Amino acid sequence: MTEGAPAAGTPVARTGANSAWLDRSRAAVWHPCTQMKAHETLPLVPIARAEGVWLEDFDGRRILDAVSSWWVNLFGHGEPRIRAAIEAQLRELEHALLAGFTHRPAVELAERLSALAPGRLGHAFYASDGASATEIALKMSVHAWRNAGRPRKTRFASLAGSYHGETLGALSVTDVPLFRSAYAPLLLDNATVPVPDARLAVGGRTPADVARDAADALAAFLREHHETVAALIVEPLVQGASGMVMYDASYLVRARELCTHYGVHLIADEIMTGFGRTGTLFACDEAGVAPDLMLLSKGITGGFLPLACVLASDAIYGAFYDDDVARGFLHSHSYSGNPLACRAAIAVLDVFRDDDVIAANRAKASRWDAIAAPLASHPKVRDFRRRGMIIAFEVGTDRPDVARRAFAAGLERGILLRPIGRTVYFMPPYTLTDDEFARLCDRTREIVDLL
Ligand SMILES: *Cc1c(COP(=O)(O)O)cnc(C)c1O
Repeated sequence: MTEGAPAAGTPVARTGANSAWLDRSRAAVWHPCTQMKAHETLPLVPIARAEGVWLEDFDGRRILDAVSSWWVNLFGHGEPRIRAAIEAQLRELEHALLAGFTHRPAVELAERLSALAPGRLGHAFYASDGASATEIALKMSVHAWRNAGRPRKTRFASLAGSYHGETLGALSVTDVPLFRSAYAPLLLDNATVPVPDARLAVGGRTPADVARDAADALAAFLREHHETVAALIVEPLVQGASGMVMYDASYLVRARELCTHYGVHLIADEIMTGFGRTGTLFACDEAGVAPDLMLLSKGITGGFLPLACVLASDAIYGAFYDDDVARGFLHSHSYSGNPLACRAAIAVLDVFRDDDVIAANRAKASRWDAIAAPLASHPKVRDFRRRGMIIAFEVGTDRPDVARRAFAAGLERGILLRPIGRTVYFMPPYTLTDDEFARLCDRTREIVDLL
């Protein structure tokens, strides 16, 4: 890796060894979540290699990965213990089908996740991406009710501003208009209930007051609709994709009580929040709440391989346990429980244990509060907030195109930011040092000045 900070103002990417990849990628690769025409003016960033918190392009220019590459690389890039675990697994078993067969990584990971998860979530169902985990949970919930003689329970409720993935079922419980509108005719008819956004706590009201009002609204909704609602799905504590919306843990406590009372499953989508991101191993832990289904993905392999896992309660699992094949859970996926991915996830859990990551993060985050203070008090910074290792704020400006301009200005300064609308956030690798965090905050202040 090259040493030293990239000089501010270095032209982005369209230089030397990078340039060959830009046009080839634009021609051949359809990039996700992207208006491809925008890349006529904003160059793609070709990445040749990465190590720790740094991505590096083909010219040796480094970019600090302040968003853990879309929230997956918990320990930065190339964590040696995870890499070694995958290498060892490669020599034993790269893949075997999981229908009718089993293997050590799938079993060990399931046992370890169940032991760590809140409540009694003793049954692990594997997939390869977050959206599939959502699909599986929705199908499991409806099918479990059907097996229990409640076939009318087929709808779902999610919170305003929710994000649970972008396949059709997942998108139908996702409340992000940009992602939904073109596909609206294809989506299931689900309900949206108010989100207890802590930013609504103004005029003497606390986040707990906001949470109580939102829970009251949930109670009213469930009172009326519980006979047709199978599950409530939530992103516990922090809604990621709609802009790092944070809320009080008391909402989850009430949501759990209400779901139990009205016979509705609680699905905790911990795809982003899980594995320490919000300060506890799982966000549900902070509320002391056990969901009926818990969804895991993103950080589960530390950014090495695609994997998702749905953890189901004994009660849901039991609803399928029968002599009749049609009462079994019917969902097939070729790469279900891939041994390499499961082995990587086991290595991630080992890192959490061996490095006492949760405690180390807690100490780090409190030091970072002091380091971030000058950024937080910048006159254009609004609603600066932190939950665990998620830091976010809004930029107070009327100028358009904040996200794109901040992204471009970040690249010029050697930092990767991907703001959501006017919300700038850091979701850094847990291995980011205090010095690197200070540099990230300094560069971000320069960028906020420009916005
Ligand atoms: C990213 C995300 C998903 C979807 O995961 P993919 O692997 O991108 O399909 C679902 N829920 C939440 C909360 C997420 O952050």
